[in-house]
Amino acid sequence: MEKCIQITIDGPSASGKSTVAKKIAKKLGFTHLDTGAIYRAIALFYKQENLLDASDKEQEDALDRFSYYFIGKLDDKHHYLDGQDVTEKLRSREVTELSSTISTKEFVRDFATRMQRVFSQDENIVVEGRDTGSVVFPEASLKFYLDADPIERAKRRFLELKEKRGYESLTKDEISDDITKRDQRDKERELSPLICPKGAMHIDTTKLSVQEIVDTMVNKAKKKKYPKSFSSRYFLTYKGKKCSFLYLLTKFCAWIYFKVFHRFEMHGAENIPLNAPAIIAANHVSVLDPPLIGITAPDVIYGLGKKALFNSKITKYWLTKINAYPVSGGVGDRDMMRKVVMLLLKGQKVMIFPEGTRSNELVVKPLKKGLALFADKGNALTIPTAVIGTEKVLPKNAKFPRLFKKVKVIYGPPISLAEIHKEIGDKKRAKEIFLERVREAIQKLIDKHK
Ligand code: C5P
Repeated sequence: MEKCIQITIDGPSASGKSTVAKKIAKKLGFTHLDTGAIYRAIALFYKQENLLDASDKEQEDALDRFSYYFIGKLDDKHHYLDGQDVTEKLRSREVTELSSTISTKEFVRDFATRMQRVFSQDENIVVEGRDTGSVVFPEASLKFYLDADPIERAKRRFLELKEKRGYESLTKDEISDDITKRDQRDKERELSPLICPKGAMHIDTTKLSVQEIVDTMVNKAKKKKYPKSFSSRYFLTYKGKKCSFLYLLTKFCAWIYFKVFHRFEMHGAENIPLNAPAIIAANHVSVLDPPLIGITAPDVIYGLGKKALFNSKITKYWLTKINAYPVSGGVGDRDMMRKVVMLLLKGQKVMIFPEGTRSNELVVKPLKKGLALFADKGNALTIPTAVIGTEKVLPKNAKFPRLFKKVKVIYGPPISLAEIHKEIGDKKRAKEIFLERVREAIQKLIDKHK
């Protein structure tokens, strides 16, 4: 199978990168990744956490709590920091200046580079930034470097900003100074300075129309072969998240089944943050648990299924369409671990049964360490979730469900590993406490509602 392709566009401020990148992404049906937004989000995060003057160590540790992602596309993109829409804040003059300063730090660049690689997994993507072709994706399929005369760039930025809130009083000279200062910092910094990457096509956009540049790039891209990517596969959305028709159809059928035959009840949906990634961590007593959680969760969710279930072509097709990933079991399944972390970092919700195996009773066993790893690497909140009643409807070795028995799902308040880590200091200990707190929370929900 062909690999997804990356197109990188680097260049200084106002060289036309964003305009061109969005147009190409639209024409080719690719995802557009504005890498500057990641640096801006980190800068805003430090400002909100009062960490702008903190030591590098404190700033680096704090990145454990940094939860950023975006949904939507092109000009209708919304950026979320800790579940809050910060789209406008990211473009403020203060954040622009702060992002230029913090992006000179090694740990910030390493972190942002990792995020960019995660966002690009399984995607045909157009990435724009300052080091995307040189450092982040040195093996990119196509690389471009855009530049323009500094006076022309200042003029473009002035026209773009003059109607924006907070910028009305800025003169052309002030904007020109801002751009010059940022360019200098980007070009002269020791780490990943702004350069024309090896193998990139250099385009001077001063006198070219946007259409001319876009046509050149699109023609080059069309000569490449690439598969359909993760986000262009589906066109339906549920609560702003993409999903397949089969996902919605399965959800609908399961909803009817659980409503008619089991009068299902759901409590605590308000505990699931809509605009933040989350792990739905539930006790596991029956094969009916995943569909029951699937229909009650107020968002599109992903799950894991035993590898054997993916052996037949039909079940593989169906399971893939309803967002299930194969798991061979155990912590050694690195591929699965990477997939879960990728989904979380992309802002999705993943359902996990952290006891590791199905049980016959409503007593929650100690949780597997993998849950803490997901919460840590995926920067996600964990929602303790209790499933009650399915152990009577379809217990472990039963073949047919017993109808007309009630089932319930209860979502508890989120638990944050990052907050526990902040409180305790020691990460290993924080993970142990986290696992115990999630286990206790699930048990309490069961005891209260059974
Ligand atoms: O592109 P944008 O103006 O949004 O980027 C904000 C700041 O982030 C830039 O001034 C630059 O210093 C930094 N940046 C970077 N590397 C990137 C993208 C942005 O250093 N790939």
